Amino acid sequence: MKKAKTSDLILLNRIKIAELTHSMRNFLTPTNSWNVGTNVDRYMNEFFAVPRPAKCGHLISNAKLVHHAATDDFKISGHQSCASVWACPHCSSKISESRKNSVEQLLDKHIKDFGNPADNHRDKINNSGIFLATLTLPHTLNQPLGDVLKVLQKAKKLFKQRGYFKSLKRNFLVGNVDSLEITYGKNGWHPHYHILLLMNTHTLLPNSKINLMSADYKKALFESWQKCVSDASDGMFQINKFGTDIRDGSFAAGYVSKWGLQHELTKGHVSKKGKQGSITPFQMLEPENKDKYKTLFREYYLATKGKSQLRASKGLWDLYGIDYNSDEEIIDILDDDEGYIVVMSISHKTYYKMLASATIPIFLAFCQNHSRAEIVRFLDDFA
Ligand SMILES: [Zn+2]
Repeated sequence: MKKAKTSDLILLNRIKIAELTHSMRNFLTPTNSWNVGTNVDRYMNEFFAVPRPAKCGHLISNAKLVHHAATDDFKISGHQSCASVWACPHCSSKISESRKNSVEQLLDKHIKDFGNPADNHRDKINNSGIFLATLTLPHTLNQPLGDVLKVLQKAKKLFKQRGYFKSLKRNFLVGNVDSLEITYGKNGWHPHYHILLLMNTHTLLPNSKINLMSADYKKALFESWQKCVSDASDGMFQINKFGTDIRDGSFAAGYVSKWGLQHELTKGHVSKKGKQGSITPFQMLEPENKDKYKTLFREYYLATKGKSQLRASKGLWDLYGIDYNSDEEIIDILDDDEGYIVVMSISHKTYYKMLASATIPIFLAFCQNHSRAEIVRFLDDFA
């Protein structure tokens, strides 16, 4: 219909996300007989027995190709979305992108409020009281993710109630954003927290300096986390020198801008494995890893279900006037059909054939620069 606007890279990422989502559905589905047209009762039973992310993309009404004239966006309407930021590559990429935008806005506003206007961009970031703390636990190969997560979350709760964090809060902290990340490596599951700390550089006394990078502050951070981990696990977990890490402004800002699945995918092209041979849960879904990680991915799905991935301290979004939506709200907004008009219906059979072969992103890109007759012919190949 109109000139192509989806760049090749975006399209490649979308195809990759569709492929990973397809593996995720298979990993979480007890059987493979998903096609409608089989025994309806059996289909219904299976449908309600499987986890919600495995049903993501399945039709709830008739499939329709819809188009938004103002944005020239094509999408397929009539399917459900699971809104799982953890298990579903499709929904996760949408949620992560939205979160990334919210956090970027937060950093921009903070830098504007607390950076020195006379500084160049880099110095402004570095001098505006932004830090990124990372809190990790030592773990071994056979520890279940649920157990390690429980200790990590309990330790973080204690950490927020104790000396180091309380003194930041009392004196300089405007707010914080906690993000939970999970990777898997040679020592098993590696859940860890990144905590973005936004400090008030105006409350400093003359000639003093918030320097969370100083040896004293680093030591205080380490000792606080060490005690919290030990207390949260009744002494079972003892952190080593890698238990805490703190970075300053430009690293924190750079890190945040890389968040999200898009980055994981881009990184995946460069090196198949993550840091120190570890992989992300979505890398477990890649075709070459099929079967090898099936059980682990299910364990991951169950352990993360219902947990929040990103959480800001109370009132922070409002303080900076940033709209913030829950995972479900982000997906609802993106799935909303307002302003779209129906171009044509797509049969169940055609839709499910395209879904199973991860063809939907290619089809939507095709719609953007082809005529109605050509679109119909494309669909005929899947009839
Ligand atoms: Zn989903």
